[in-house]
Amino acid sequence: MSLPLEVGRRPRVGVMGGTFDPIHHGHLVAGSEVLSWFGLDEVVFVPTGEPWQKADRKVSPGEDRYLMTVIATASNPRFWVSRVDVDRSGPTYTIDTLRDLRAHYGGEVDLYFITGADALAQILTWRNTEELFELAHFVGCTRPGHDIDMQTLHALPRDRVTIVEIPALAISSTDCRERVSADEPVWYLVPDGVVQYIAKHRLYVDASGATSHRK
Ligand code: ATP
Ligand code: MG
Repeated sequence: MSLPLEVGRRPRVGVMGGTFDPIHHGHLVAGSEVLSWFGLDEVVFVPTGEPWQKADRKVSPGEDRYLMTVIATASNPRFWVSRVDVDRSGPTYTIDTLRDLRAHYGGEVDLYFITGADALAQILTWRNTEELFELAHFVGCTRPGHDIDMQTLHALPRDRVTIVEIPALAISSTDCRERVSADEPVWYLVPDGVVQYIAKHRLYVDASGATSHRK
């Protein structure tokens, strides 16, 4: 972790899971807003391992997604990046992410799992829902074009889920990949270092917008 945590108080830690293919300013703003609203000590970004929910397209290697996430978060002393999901073999399940991070803090931590409204809507279909809500508070971020439906909201435990509105950043990784593949700019959608990493490693150059051509 990046900062010495305050002695005598359980640390409050935001967990931002994502494919981060690539990480963009929408992710970073979401992490920063939730950190401020919930008075968190830090936010850990956790790039997924083999992303089973995106089986329809080829996802860039975990190492590229991890490094882009490190580059994007390096300047913020309250952000850090965990390798727990990239290093675990097999598909990433949020329950494993939360268990591993809790263990990292020796069990003494309040975790806030930050997720988009789109992912939150699927949460009830995830494994071990009850344990998930025991392990973390869930923060659902609404973003343009991803409203949460009321039926889903009512099915979630009210004391364990908070919906927050993130300043409208209509950025998605899909759009970034398509732009690179169409030779359009991604400057200011992703951090400068990530623009350069994508170019250096020739990520997203093919038509499907997701294949890595590493040298
Ligand atoms: P893709 O287009 O490939 O699905 P994405 O932009 O949705 O990528 P993910 O890595 O899937 O990025 O997102 C990780 C988390 O960040 C998800 O919970 C997602 O809802 C949230 N998120 C993504 N973009 C934004 C944004 N612009 N504002 C707030 N939250 C976002
Ligand atoms: Mg997404």
